[in-house]
Amino acid sequence: MSDCIFCKIINGEFGTKFVYENEWAVVFKDINPKAETHLLVVPRTHVESLNELDDEVLLGKLMMTVKDVTKKEGIKSYRTVINTGKDAGQEVFHLHIHILSGRIK
Ligand code: 5GP
Ligand code: ZN
Repeated sequence: MSDCIFCKIINGEFGTKFVYENEWAVVFKDINPKAETHLLVVPRTHVESLNELDDEVLLGKLMMTVKDVTKKEGIKSYRTVINTGKDAGQEVFHLHIHILSGRIK
């Protein structure tokens, strides 16, 4: 999607460094971290939110990406969050999974 900030990041338009990537998703640091470690797992395909997702295989791949990136980064304890909808605090309407670990800011 042309005006989506996460699609632009995925396309490399801002030179954002990926902590991890695979066929289905990229993972990068949140620009405004809410915890000592705050990563975002973002599917390569544009889906607005969990409400619009109808691909259970992709959902599984995203959760496995959480597992793989935390293992690679040595993050043993963490919280995952998916904000869905404006009233729940979703600001970027491209599905993403927050990974939060360590001291909450
Ligand atoms: P949401 O509130 O939609 O669940 O989370 C969006 C997250 O994306 C926020 O935590 C925000 O800090 C992060 N974010 C917004 N724009 C950018 C950006 O351009 N780069 C990065 N790395 N993170 C962003
Ligand atoms: Zn997008």
